[in-house]
Amino acid sequence: MRDIELYEARQTGGLLLNANEASEGFSSEVMERIHQALDAMAFNRYPDDDCTVLHQAYATWAGLQPSQVLAGNGSDAMLGLMIGLFTSRDKPLVTWDPDFSMYDYYASMQEAEIRKVPVGDIQALSAAGGDAGLVVISNPNNPTGMTLSREQIRGILAALPDTPVVVDEAYMDFSDQSMLDEIEDWDNLYVTRTLSKALGAAGLRLGFLVTSDRNMRNIRPYKVPYGVNAFTQAAGTVLLQMADAAKDRIDRICTERDRLYEALKDMNLPVQPSGANFLFLQGEGMEALGQGLEKAGIIVRTWPGKDQIRITIGLPEENDQVLAAIRELTPTERKGTDSCAVLN
Ligand code: PMP
Repeated sequence: MRDIELYEARQTGGLLLNANEASEGFSSEVMERIHQALDAMAFNRYPDDDCTVLHQAYATWAGLQPSQVLAGNGSDAMLGLMIGLFTSRDKPLVTWDPDFSMYDYYASMQEAEIRKVPVGDIQALSAAGGDAGLVVISNPNNPTGMTLSREQIRGILAALPDTPVVVDEAYMDFSDQSMLDEIEDWDNLYVTRTLSKALGAAGLRLGFLVTSDRNMRNIRPYKVPYGVNAFTQAAGTVLLQMADAAKDRIDRICTERDRLYEALKDMNLPVQPSGANFLFLQGEGMEALGQGLEKAGIIVRTWPGKDQIRITIGLPEENDQVLAAIRELTPTERKGTDSCAVLN
């Protein structure tokens, strides 16, 4: 095994805008239905190993067939399953630099070579992926927010007909370039999705692997038995059956993301366009800005020694708090002239 970056999961203290979670909890209607499901639950029995009701609920919500869907303990577990199945000492993992750090974690357990190409360089990815065991990329990308179009993803899939490609769509509810509609069109396409972000259920630990019916028949035997506990199956089903209510919240988050992006650009800060529920800033002074925000009680994602920060989009008042703190911490020449209105 080789050295890997420790996954830092900070949970407490301050305004938590570091893990791309939802700021809002479940609605009272959802909570009521979950309580009812809880009352009917037989905790002395193992859960349904086939996740029959949950798979049906996800398939209905996502416009898929249950036979194309596999639930797991967060999309993290599904990524681990794919990386475990398709990489090994002589089957490298190919991914973007930067991308979600857990890909490296799982590949290092396989002692697989990890080949990284600059995020967004499709030609380099296609060149590196030809003899790889697996390509995994997040789209929208974590941490940059960069979002490839469906056309660009098709280009990658077409260039790598013999390499399985996982498109990690953890943040795709905040964008509109999902490959789920084309799941039967590509032999090498696998998509992972999660309930942790747009559906606001990070605590449930529920994610899905989606692939063609034919591929899924080969993958399903490798799933962990009882990998999704009874409570998560029941609560996840309720949430998915009531997921229409989440659409308004998703719209609100996207509107807030765009507002924050414009405000930060007005301050001449190095913020990148994002298709996700976070913004990425990279450039001189950003590490110090991250530290300053932390001192002000606003916890954002930072990378020690790197001039970059990632800020999760929160509730409007939380985003106002972020803007006000950044304004305080930013040298006057960067503050721009016409951004005061945004802070009101
Ligand atoms: N993929 C990406 C790109 C992520 O950012 C995350 C969580 N931060 C995950 C997958 C894992 O999500 P979960 O296990 O909560 O489904």
